[in-house]
Amino acid sequence: MKLGIVGLPNVGKSTLFNAITNAGAESANYPFCTIDPNVGMVAVPDYRLDKLSEMYHPKKTTPAVIEFVDIAGLVKGASKGEGLGNKFLGNIRMTDAIVHVVRCFDDDNVIHVEGSTDPVRDMDTIDLELVMADLEMVERRIDKAKKMAKGDKKFLQEAADFEGLRDWLNDGKSARSYEAVDIAAEYPDCELLSLKPVIYAANLDEEGFSDPHSVPYYQQVEERAAAQGAQVIPVCAKLEAEIAQLDGEEKKMFLDDLGVAESGLDRLVKASYTLLGLISYLTSGEDECRAWTIVKGTKAPQAAGKIHSDFERGFIRAEVVSYEDLMACGTMAAAREKGLIRSEGKEYVVQDGDIILFRFNV
Ligand code: GDP
Repeated sequence: MKLGIVGLPNVGKSTLFNAITNAGAESANYPFCTIDPNVGMVAVPDYRLDKLSEMYHPKKTTPAVIEFVDIAGLVKGASKGEGLGNKFLGNIRMTDAIVHVVRCFDDDNVIHVEGSTDPVRDMDTIDLELVMADLEMVERRIDKAKKMAKGDKKFLQEAADFEGLRDWLNDGKSARSYEAVDIAAEYPDCELLSLKPVIYAANLDEEGFSDPHSVPYYQQVEERAAAQGAQVIPVCAKLEAEIAQLDGEEKKMFLDDLGVAESGLDRLVKASYTLLGLISYLTSGEDECRAWTIVKGTKAPQAAGKIHSDFERGFIRAEVVSYEDLMACGTMAAAREKGLIRSEGKEYVVQDGDIILFRFNV
């Protein structure tokens, strides 16, 4: 699962991406992740994993990670091939969701491509590029469906569905807000950019970050995002890189000084995880405590398959205790004594925060 960081030039994308790289999870532990300078991996903050780790003192603690891709170079006119337009749009196509960075700070030393700070105009500019790129794709799809309909009438419906969407996009509106047809569900092969879920990262200066709601730019972004049902996360790209290098107490003190409970990056990572419909289950032991990423709704054997395909193939059952139950008991042995470790079968839907031991045949 990958998120693409997009936004106009000079809004703070690279600065935020550097923070992600600084926070950098140890890549050796994540062989499935892409090795690419434009891809950054970041740990998903998880207090439950921290607690488990305190309990077991394992040799290794391995958090869940998500990947962010720095997609620089999206400018006005990209859908028309301006700049390296099409290449960047292609990069966005490879992602599962979009983090759209919006400039909410004034700084005469940092040139704004449009001459002034205006986050809503910037949001619309980027959104419109994505819509324009989609329009081209949708037009092609309509033509193809119409041709196919000559041989098979069922394609008439497809042509009609996409004509409806075309009119919607033609009004400058994103595919994700199109409700007449559930395009993602009906046509899962259709990779539209403006269909991808989005989070807005409002990049504030230090002062604004401490109290985002007092910043008119931030309020404007919130209002615009609310109209799309999208979330806004306040970040201070300049500070995030520094914060990302701090640990535990130091980090807490730094954030206390700023008057915020959490770093923008931590909030962004958590929100991205939720946006993608992801949850974590945990494994614990003296060697390793680890959080594993699954899509909400995953059943036990497939969840086991995240650890190793043998676990899925030879799945017998899952021994599951909820995080809350384990904490209430204090130790795994006490939880077992109280009968709080459940034995779950193939149909069990794994829950966020489940602590699991898989039994399997080799
Ligand atoms: P990108 O083109 O979107 O990747 O933007 P950069 O991350 O390269 O940032 C452009 C400039 O804005 C750099 O000089 C950054 O130091 C500066 N910048 C980024 N975030 C902030 C911020 O929160 N406040 C201020 N004042 N400057 C920032």
